[in-house]
Amino acid sequence: MKSRSFGPLKPKRSTNSESSLDKIVQSARNLSEERQEGYRQRALKLYPWVCGRCARVFDRDNLYELTVHHRDHNHDNNPNDGSNWELLCLYCHDDEHARYTDFRADGSSDSTEDTDPPATHNPFANLQALLNGSSNKSD
Ligand SMILES: [Zn+2]
Ligand SMILES: [Zn+2]
Repeated sequence: MKSRSFGPLKPKRSTNSESSLDKIVQSARNLSEERQEGYRQRALKLYPWVCGRCARVFDRDNLYELTVHHRDHNHDNNPNDGSNWELLCLYCHDDEHARYTDFRADGSSDSTEDTDPPATHNPFANLQALLNGSSNKSD
């Protein structure tokens, strides 16, 4: 068997050494990182540097321990008014997510009829029901 070789696709480097293109490429590469840093910086500008849970106060020396939590756990939901952000220290943030996963893990117990886990909503539930309901298979 011949192994397919992906030739080293070296981008042609023009001698034109204006580095603006480089910058664009670089920024595209770092886009996700920058985006993450982006909303963190925005949140830090918007909110006082205080953990929203334990009220620990932060300054530049320990600011790295202050993180941005997304209230709806959707990291793509970054409204400009910061309504989806909550500044939490590492520990409280950890705790928040631990509780969140605990909640889901507990879903297997049989007394969960009344609890309404907000995050386990399955967008395909409808589709599933649709398929179940409308498929009149007669084999
Ligand atoms: Zn905290
Ligand atoms: Zn979070």
